[in-house]
Amino acid sequence: MAQDKKQVEQITDMEVDFAKWFTDVCKKAELIDYSSIKGMFILRPYGYAIWENFQKILDEKFKETGHENVYLPMLIPESLLQKEKDHVEGFAPECAWVTYGGSEKLEERYCIRPTSETLFCEHYANIIHSHRDLPKLYNQWCSVLRWEKTSRPFLRHREFLWQEGHTMHATAEEAIAETERMFNIYADFCENYLAMPVVKGRKTDKEKFSGAEATYTVECMMHDKKALQAGTSHYFGDGFATAFDITFTGKDNKPHHPFQTSWGVSTRLIGGVIMTHGDNNGLVLPPRIAPTQVIIIPVAQHKEGVLEANEAVMNRLKAAGIRVKMDASEQSAGWKFAEYEMKGVPLRLEMGPKDMEKNQCVLARRDNGEKSFVSLDNIEETVKTMLDAVQQGLFDKAKKNLEDNTYACSSLEEVKEKMASQGGFAKTMWCGDLECELKMKEEAGVSSRCIPLEQEHLGDVCPICGKPAKHMVYWGVAY
Ligand SMILES: [Zn+2]
Repeated sequence: MAQDKKQVEQITDMEVDFAKWFTDVCKKAELIDYSSIKGMFILRPYGYAIWENFQKILDEKFKETGHENVYLPMLIPESLLQKEKDHVEGFAPECAWVTYGGSEKLEERYCIRPTSETLFCEHYANIIHSHRDLPKLYNQWCSVLRWEKTSRPFLRHREFLWQEGHTMHATAEEAIAETERMFNIYADFCENYLAMPVVKGRKTDKEKFSGAEATYTVECMMHDKKALQAGTSHYFGDGFATAFDITFTGKDNKPHHPFQTSWGVSTRLIGGVIMTHGDNNGLVLPPRIAPTQVIIIPVAQHKEGVLEANEAVMNRLKAAGIRVKMDASEQSAGWKFAEYEMKGVPLRLEMGPKDMEKNQCVLARRDNGEKSFVSLDNIEETVKTMLDAVQQGLFDKAKKNLEDNTYACSSLEEVKEKMASQGGFAKTMWCGDLECELKMKEEAGVSSRCIPLEQEHLGDVCPICGKPAKHMVYWGVAY
């Protein structure tokens, strides 16, 4: 048993050092490995399988809403990147450049895409001519590169996988509706698949995307009460279209610039899942995105008929569409329990000779450790019901964490005091001035997370400067 325990002891307690706990889980659950370049990580099969599940679900939702996948080059000529001023200013510090082709120095250097607005605009200028060419609803699955100074698995990679949607519309109203539609798809994905409750809102001007008129965001609270920006959707107006000279002939026979959106989520969401649901035994995965939903561990597997009986259960679950595996290796039962706990498999099914006599098996939940004996009659439905219960249990727990750690404050002092003692999200009224936003950062160490769509009236004045308040804002410390 001492050896069985060792596996778990290898991870730091989250109460002792949350950052270290997080890195330990990423490594011990075999999600990630380090490469020889700082900030560039290897997604191991188990980590990549989680990303593939995200992709499957989101890709289906994108296609249902009329989007098509495309692929554009990974290099952006410098002259193209510079066409939109705010955009290049925002991204220039993080660009990596290709300056040589073989042994020849290039006449113009090429940026490795940090995001692809400029490339899409160049392409759109070539293919959009008439109102009949609109809307264009494109999405790209790819990796992007941002030369970050610090890095952490999933949360901050120099190269990371994501999807970037880029759309063009004939009217501002249509583009705004698209921005909101995709933002709602992200919110639904976070809540109903990742079991991560969200706060939906708009970014302040300071925090919005470089070149965007408006950025919508879904913000989640991690177990350590810090915020994670889980997905963003941007409305660009016709700013890029003007800069890139994209015009179409409208129904009125006059030239117009189209209106643009972009929206994206990345492998950072995997970091969010780990930090929302994980515990001191390792990863805890929501069943809807878990690569393996049920792990079967035969008990006394050397006894006659045990393996066959377990296999029969596995086949029944498989046939019912459940992602199930059986571990009939030589490892001890204790080792196996620790291993699949570490990997966050939502349900463990155990069955030995005594259970077989009684036509039953044991189901153990990863999220709360509950074990129950259940009949093999209808095992498919029992397992499905329990997977749903795990999914809901994880959401409820995360929702409670969010609610218990979100509070209204009426002065800067109160924000400071609450942040230091409790952390989480402080909500206050705000006048809308950048100065007050900066002061909040300086004095309380928090950034504005969003201006929630669901506004509350907490008072008439900005608690920072005393001027009339315009919005209610969420503040927090973010990843
Ligand atoms: Zn103010």
